Amino acid sequence: MSDIIQLLPEYLANQIAAGEVVQRPASVVKELLENAVDAGATQIKLIVKEAGKQLVQVVDNGSGMSATDARMSLERHATSKIRTTEDLFKIRTLGFRGEALASIAAVAQVEIKTKLRQQDTGTQILVEGSQVVKQQPTAAPDGTSISVKNLFYNVPARRNFLKSNAVEMRHILDEFQHVALSKSSISFSLYQNDLEVFNLPAGKLSQRVVQLLGNSYKEQLALVEEVTPFISVKGYIGKPASAKKSRGDQFFFVNGRFIRSAYLNHAVLAAYEGLLPKETHPFYVLFLELDPKAIDINVHPTKTEIKFEDEKTVYAIMRAAVKQALGLHNMAPSLDFES
Ligand code: ADP
Ligand code: MG
Repeated sequence: MSDIIQLLPEYLANQIAAGEVVQRPASVVKELLENAVDAGATQIKLIVKEAGKQLVQVVDNGSGMSATDARMSLERHATSKIRTTEDLFKIRTLGFRGEALASIAAVAQVEIKTKLRQQDTGTQILVEGSQVVKQQPTAAPDGTSISVKNLFYNVPARRNFLKSNAVEMRHILDEFQHVALSKSSISFSLYQNDLEVFNLPAGKLSQRVVQLLGNSYKEQLALVEEVTPFISVKGYIGKPASAKKSRGDQFFFVNGRFIRSAYLNHAVLAAYEGLLPKETHPFYVLFLELDPKAIDINVHPTKTEIKFEDEKTVYAIMRAAVKQALGLHNMAPSLDFES
């Protein structure tokens, strides 16, 4: 017998794939929040215990799932969001890879409780390390609640690799911020070890910014609005006086999805040139909308990197939009900057 290649058993394949999607409790937070948004929820509650090491739970009032779909949602490459290759090039949802729940269920103990609005009974499913331990009808409110307990309980090396609760909580807050900023029309709350940390009512983006990031941005936001046939750039930037020593309150969303981009950041900073006190970083929350065909979001499994077909134009429009916003607020370099 010299043939030695075998297909990996499914649970092992899932566990390996999980490594890409689920790095830490914050990854679970991101995936569950995004699913709640995609499900059309208007209220989303995030509950974490022990910085997510013990529990990450997201409760939404979105579409809910049928019993069959609830079971299917845990399969790898199982998604309701795309069906054809064509769909891949016009993605409007945050998810589409159909990998998150399967990955999470491979490395944690997961409980799904879900109910479709038009049905009387809901479904409860318990999964541990990809194995369904229980599935039964249950009473449940409209929408979905997914609890992820004891992340990496079956991958000790990963579990030991997690950082302190303070660090893990910081990552969770980052993910919460991204999603909460991206959809100010949805109300969000966050509970940490049974204490309410945030309770954000649905409202305007400017209100959300202040409620989420602090009063220091009150009266400090300048509106950005630039719409061309190719791209629209909208949002707020901070007036130079609100720039901070610490970097961090800087957010780009492309078609509703948070992304990191040194290139776009450069475009924004170029617009501020000469306006900022030394070694300070301006605030911005900017939403770019463009034809999904003109971008590729499939560069990275966590989808925080993106490729623009026409990068240079995006850069130029971004810089111009921010410049104009700054100009509208009457801040000539000579007045605000000591050289
Ligand atoms: P993706 O989001 O890429 O489709 P996921 O593994 O995150 O993959 O979810 C698989 C499927 O499960 C989704 O396509 C969706 O149909 C369903 N689903 C997951 N979470 C929710 C939720 N909170 N409410 C309704 N349906 C959900
Ligand atoms: Mg998803």
